[in-house]
Amino acid sequence: MPKSKPVPGKPETLLVALGGNALIRKGQEGTIREQFENLVVPIRQIARLSRTHRIVITHGNGPQVGNLLLQQECCSQVPRLPLEILVAQTQGQIGYMIESTLDNELMKLGLDGKRFFVTLLSYVVVDEKDPAFQNPSKPIGPVFSREEALGLPYATVRTPAGYRRVVASPKPVTIVEKREIRMLVDMGFIVISCGGGGIPVVKESRTFHGVDAVIDKDLASAKLCEEIGVDVFVIATDVEGAALWYGTPRQRFLSRLNPEEARKYLQAGEFPPGSMGPKVEAAIQFLDSGGKRAVITSIRHIEDAVAGKAGTQLTRGDSA
Ligand code: ADP
Ligand code: MG
Repeated sequence: MPKSKPVPGKPETLLVALGGNALIRKGQEGTIREQFENLVVPIRQIARLSRTHRIVITHGNGPQVGNLLLQQECCSQVPRLPLEILVAQTQGQIGYMIESTLDNELMKLGLDGKRFFVTLLSYVVVDEKDPAFQNPSKPIGPVFSREEALGLPYATVRTPAGYRRVVASPKPVTIVEKREIRMLVDMGFIVISCGGGGIPVVKESRTFHGVDAVIDKDLASAKLCEEIGVDVFVIATDVEGAALWYGTPRQRFLSRLNPEEARKYLQAGEFPPGSMGPKVEAAIQFLDSGGKRAVITSIRHIEDAVAGKAGTQLTRGDSA
């Protein structure tokens, strides 16, 4: 589909990707009350930003889908649900929580009845020939002992915590609902979509079927940005940005980064897979596809990051 071109006077479109910590902070039990309380921090800022920007929200689902997987193991009276169904469930539950928080925050700003929002279930197509299917690498769900793991109907992997189910993490090829999302954004809706990286599906001629896989939410968000023509891609997480020598006494957060430097640091192992790596990769992909600016920031500083005053700002041509 054609990319939207900048139009003078037309508001910029932001895509804000919320990390799992927007709902459950490290060390918390993760009760629904905690999740609602935590959500206020990013959603209040997003509500304010909606006065000046068009907005798309994507989100992670790690702890939530992990809990649903655990529930599958706890109950033998009903059939186990496949992963794709659990991802769909988390899109509904988290979409609802974001919507109701957004509703409250818009109301406080006097924007109720002026800003509209919608959560959209989203399928994300993956390639069944993606090498990730031959080499499942993403541990998900509860931790089992070796004996328990041997009796499970799916593959597991040994992690430092114990044995966990392992699934493929293929690359997102396209977001099935991209046209609907673009239309809703153009109409002024705040759209919540691609939760948990999207429901992974493969295409068989003109139909889709779900697969046991997990798509990285940062990479799925970058694909959505590309396909709907987002101007600024905000990746909100629990640290101030991308750092060099992370976790060492030399740690230094980067305020600016260009794609060449980002690639160099990725190769040097500064941004590990499964955490900061996919965020930096997603930002690079966004800029390569024609995006203006990506920023990796703390969930507490989304507004400052949009204003260029916080986080790691990635643009073409800038340097650290
Ligand atoms: P999210 O739920 O937002 O996707 P992740 O846990 O996947 O969060 O990624 C953020 C984490 O990446 C941070 O909490 C931090 O511990 C880790 N991290 C690893 N390397 C770096 C780095 N070089 N700079 C900043 N954070 C890093
Ligand atoms: Mg992550």
